[in-house]
Amino acid sequence: MELKLRLAHLYPKLMNIYGDRGNILCLERRCRERGIGFEVTELGLGEKMKPKEHDLVFIGGAQDREQRRVAEDLVKEKGKALKEAAAKGVVILAVCGGYQLMGRYYRGAEGEELPGVGVFGLRTEHPGPGAKRFIGNVVVEWQGGTLVGFENHGGRTHLDDGVEPLGRVVAGFGNNGDDGGEGAVCGNAYGTYLHGSLLPKNPRFADHLIETALRRRYKDLEMAPLDDRVEEMAHAAAVRLATRRGIISV
Ligand code: GLN
Repeated sequence: MELKLRLAHLYPKLMNIYGDRGNILCLERRCRERGIGFEVTELGLGEKMKPKEHDLVFIGGAQDREQRRVAEDLVKEKGKALKEAAAKGVVILAVCGGYQLMGRYYRGAEGEELPGVGVFGLRTEHPGPGAKRFIGNVVVEWQGGTLVGFENHGGRTHLDDGVEPLGRVVAGFGNNGDDGGEGAVCGNAYGTYLHGSLLPKNPRFADHLIETALRRRYKDLEMAPLDDRVEEMAHAAAVRLATRRGIISV
């Protein structure tokens, strides 16, 4: 049987800053190197998402301006399908601005409240144009190891009671620079502020997403490990950089 990962990429032309498209390239390479097929469906404004047709959904980050252009369409054209997909265990990876719009709402720098899909129980509020932005290298504790990336956001995200963060901040700011959490996990939906792009330097997390996404349809999937020496060296260098400069968690 030919294995294939079917990915929906939401708003690739609008929600794509700080190299977030690199996550798609990383997933494709890690599939192809294992002989797993890879299919991307790009869904822009006005295009509906069919939840049964995808194993993984990706949405990247954006400035407030693009979020304003996307928010209504995301809720109206794709919101119901996204919640249906999340309920069925489809993997969702939402980065920064995309992560914010997967919560209940995002209140932008100018004070306008954008509706969110509600996949994650969280709210995000930007304190205003003059507020300090959370910018810099980030290290997060995740499943006994670390995730590394780069953050650049003004919004402060607060998780609802009972919602788990993706990990604990070791270096950097994370969701709000206060409670030590970074990102959010709800079932197989993952939200994070980590740009970079995230996945190339975090091969263990990339494989976790691929395996989780494929095992819904291929129950006995076993994925051979890849030679990740280069990725692991880059990961270790990023950890050293983020922690050496004294960007210590709050
Ligand atoms: N515009 C949002 C903020 O400033 C998200 C930014 C981003 O996606 N990097 O918080």
